[in-house]
Amino acid sequence: MKIIFFSAKPYDKEFFNRFNQTYDFEIEYHETHLGPHIVNIVQDAEAICVFVNDKLTEKVIQVLADKGVKVIALRCAGFNNVDLEAAKRFGITVCRVPAYSPEAVAEHALAMLQTINRKTHKAYNRVREQNFALNGLLGFNLHGKTVGIIGTGKIGKAFAQIMLGFGCKVLAYDLYPDDKLKEKGITYVSLEELLETSDIVSLHCPLTKENHYFINKETLALTKRGIVIINTSRGGLINTNDIIQALTSQQVGALCIDVYEQEEKLFFRDLSTNIIDDDNIHRLMSYPNVLITAHQAFFTEEALSEIAQVTLHSIDQILKGNKPEDKTTLLT
Ligand code: NAD
Repeated sequence: MKIIFFSAKPYDKEFFNRFNQTYDFEIEYHETHLGPHIVNIVQDAEAICVFVNDKLTEKVIQVLADKGVKVIALRCAGFNNVDLEAAKRFGITVCRVPAYSPEAVAEHALAMLQTINRKTHKAYNRVREQNFALNGLLGFNLHGKTVGIIGTGKIGKAFAQIMLGFGCKVLAYDLYPDDKLKEKGITYVSLEELLETSDIVSLHCPLTKENHYFINKETLALTKRGIVIINTSRGGLINTNDIIQALTSQQVGALCIDVYEQEEKLFFRDLSTNIIDDDNIHRLMSYPNVLITAHQAFFTEEALSEIAQVTLHSIDQILKGNKPEDKTTLLT
């Protein structure tokens, strides 16, 4: 049984080779993204394994089906990059890793928030240059602040728990509120109320057709002046042009993003000697109150181990004609 990997990095190889010892699949790794330009290299494989920026359009899926691929395994949770309808039509099973250490992402959201707030990234550099002055490093206490969480699934819940620990008031908005979270002291409110009353807003919902660009000129106008926005979910949730305007007008006080709408052209690569043809990322990188990380929120030992184990187990089960025990891994 052969699995072909796309967007494979050295750490993917390390973790998948380690856990493949149990299964002994033949694995072919490709560093390139999957798309129409490369799909023809797929030969004699029962499964392909892809990541967040591989594009599985109808055209790509059709070629995969013609080549006999039975499983598309996403080694991530989000699946906005796959045409699930097309996969269903061509009889390909799509699986994902629904929960690989939600704490990894929630803890990264906190790390970003506290970095931009307490300016530890600047302090680190200053102290190394024997500059022990505090001017420009002023932050604020998280204790007592109102944090709005949009999407209270696995990651949103973990982030809510962390924020409660800091003594924050936690508001939430979700299409399906969770009663257990209410018992813990989290208050569900409308999206408008959350935006109007929060000091910090963190996005933890998936990107769907309905919520594309839902942080835009209109919704930003509802927020408190100086709001801090954190996005570790998907870049398309934020209209980048609108948030740049809101940063310039200081309606937004700080922005922490681990995801970016045009990230597939940038993230997971060393472009330090390239000229980047993307004015928005240059603009964002130039603000002192914007912190960008390159989709690394998931990147912990625990999460990579879980991703490799769950992905290989699901592929093994599906190819044996079984359904994986956790039904939420299956998307078609
Ligand atoms: P989840 O499925 O457990 O939870 C998502 C929650 O969002 C659900 O409660 C759902 O009801 C809610 N939701 C859906 N649409 C909504 C909307 N329009 N408005 C408000 N709430 C809505 O997912 P999760 O495991 O918590 O992951 C959340 C997202 O985080 C993923 O979809 C993915 O895009 C992103 N993610 C990012 C990284 C990273 O490394 N940066 C890693 C993993 C996941």
